[in-house]
Amino acid sequence: MTGNKLTPGSNMRWESSRMVLPEHREALLQHKGDQQPMPTNKKNRVVMLVDMQSFYANIEKSYDPTLKDKPVAVAGDPKIRSGVILAACPIAKKRGVKTAEALWEAQMKCPDLVVVRPRMQLYLDISIEIAIILETFTDLVEPYSIDEIFVEMTGALHGRTPHEVGQLMVNKIYQNHGLIARVGIGPNKVMAKMACDHFAKKQPEGIFCLTNDNMPDKLWPLPIGKMFGVGNRMEHHLRDMGIRTIGQLANAELKDITKRWGINGEVLWQTAHGIDEAPVTIDTHIRRKAIGHSMTLPRDYKTWDEIKIVLRELCEEVARRTRANGYAGTVVTVGVGGSYNNRGSSFSRQKKLLTETDDGKTIYDAAEKLFKYHWDRQAVRSVGVT
Ligand SMILES: [Mg+2]
Repeated sequence: MTGNKLTPGSNMRWESSRMVLPEHREALLQHKGDQQPMPTNKKNRVVMLVDMQSFYANIEKSYDPTLKDKPVAVAGDPKIRSGVILAACPIAKKRGVKTAEALWEAQMKCPDLVVVRPRMQLYLDISIEIAIILETFTDLVEPYSIDEIFVEMTGALHGRTPHEVGQLMVNKIYQNHGLIARVGIGPNKVMAKMACDHFAKKQPEGIFCLTNDNMPDKLWPLPIGKMFGVGNRMEHHLRDMGIRTIGQLANAELKDITKRWGINGEVLWQTAHGIDEAPVTIDTHIRRKAIGHSMTLPRDYKTWDEIKIVLRELCEEVARRTRANGYAGTVVTVGVGGSYNNRGSSFSRQKKLLTETDDGKTIYDAAEKLFKYHWDRQAVRSVGVT
């Protein structure tokens, strides 16, 4: 409720740093001719993406041991049957409960579902505590969303294998918070992310190492839509060109790809070859985020029902802080970050209230109006209120 600027979600920052570096581009252009340039990763980096399994639902379970063996879901308001499921634990998922579906649908499939109300501030606090645990392994820790964190482990392995260090991280997070983490390992961020999403989550120990050597066997057979950076629209375009797998993109002529999509096509082609120069950058906002002003969501939120819950929590938190500091404010700002494939949906808008307030409901009403007026109904990845 002050003039604070909205902190954009960390995913936004990563996107901007993923632009191809000029010297890299020049190196690629020098290889013109019928020979494909041979892409390589610059140095032997070790990057990890640590992802929390069923983050919200598993936090609730670790806080209430009586829920341990029960199917648990987090939903906006457990009393409203038309409410929406924000998160479900693995037991509930096995029983058919899906995120973003209506509560009554979930209850039809799983009548003994235990439904709890979300505690966003708690989830945000634990997210920061997990980042602090990872800081005991390396000083380069970058939160990507509330339940995913990048760590640069280059030069920080101290004689251990990446897999061993991943196991230590998983153990430490479990010991401290009773939460299950999965670790994707790769020579850069995109490889670590794909190692995590497509492989680590399916491993019993939750760890997978994607390398330049196993990439042709593991990554290339996957459908093109599974590649990082390829959204629905791009998937259709690539399929129209006859590119159905990541390997087919890797083996496509770079000039055909750049002719159609320019530098963006080149970035995708590089991703298919496992190339990404983006550094893991320390997030100086880690602790500032704890004040609950803005958050990057674990996935894209597409419906008002889902977004509303987050917005309401943020407004309550802003009001709490305002009261704690003995202030009252008159300007409400709502900021929204679009999903990866749709940055055009981002906005930040302000509204001046008629009177000063430190009341969450008043702030929320203004925030809801702002949001509904400016939101283009596209998926949302980060939300902030100040
Ligand atoms: Mg997760």
